[in-house]
Amino acid sequence: MSSWNPWHGCRKFSPGCLNCYVYRMDGKFGRDPSRFSLTSAFRLPLEKFRGGKKKGSYKLQPDGDAVYTCFSSDFFLEDADQHRPEAWNAIRLRPDLHFFIPTKRIHRFADCLPPDWGDGYANVTIACTAENQAMADKRLPLFISLPIRHREIIVEPMLEKMDISPHLSGISHVIAGGESGPEARPCHLQWIISLQRQCKAANVPFRFKQTGARFINEKGILVNVARRCQQCLAAGYRLGSSV
Ligand code: SF4
Repeated sequence: MSSWNPWHGCRKFSPGCLNCYVYRMDGKFGRDPSRFSLTSAFRLPLEKFRGGKKKGSYKLQPDGDAVYTCFSSDFFLEDADQHRPEAWNAIRLRPDLHFFIPTKRIHRFADCLPPDWGDGYANVTIACTAENQAMADKRLPLFISLPIRHREIIVEPMLEKMDISPHLSGISHVIAGGESGPEARPCHLQWIISLQRQCKAANVPFRFKQTGARFINEKGILVNVARRCQQCLAAGYRLGSSV
């Protein structure tokens, strides 16, 4: 799995942002997470090796997985407006890579597109995040109306039981999970099961990515999950008959 974080820093504006991991990580190092800055990887997709056996080849190579893009900020953050055209250009020039871009700012999407976007770049997946029913009702109708070739929904951190069934047309994947970190809000298995059923009825692939740190299991019992176990536990529920 490869990643590309062209810029860093973000501002909270949604219930799902409350315990943002960028804030948690930056806090540990005394860094201000709301301060926007370009990273040293800003031009990574177009960087090439200057010497050695790989001289002339791109540093970022296809690895069979998507390039997870802008995970320490939001690609559609206002502060990035003047820099985004250059990022789009890098994406355009690397059709051999597939860029996976999550966002909570889908309302800004239409104003942030490159001139040749058309009905979407073939090498870009936009993933709209909706963490509760209010955000789903607000963002998803807009999301499915936008010109995007590949679109996914991320329900993470899942904060309550949700009905996203009216918004699954044209969605290629739904990913759900609980919240991580010491202040994590609980996620219920029943919410995950409900979401999985909605996706199954709409024939949309569903992935239960992680339980989160505080997970209410099928018996209604709170499980405090060590971080390293979350994906294993989620996988266990997937492999079993529960989800
Ligand atoms: S949009 Fe994402 S990166 Fe930005 S504050 Fe919210 S959770 Fe953090």
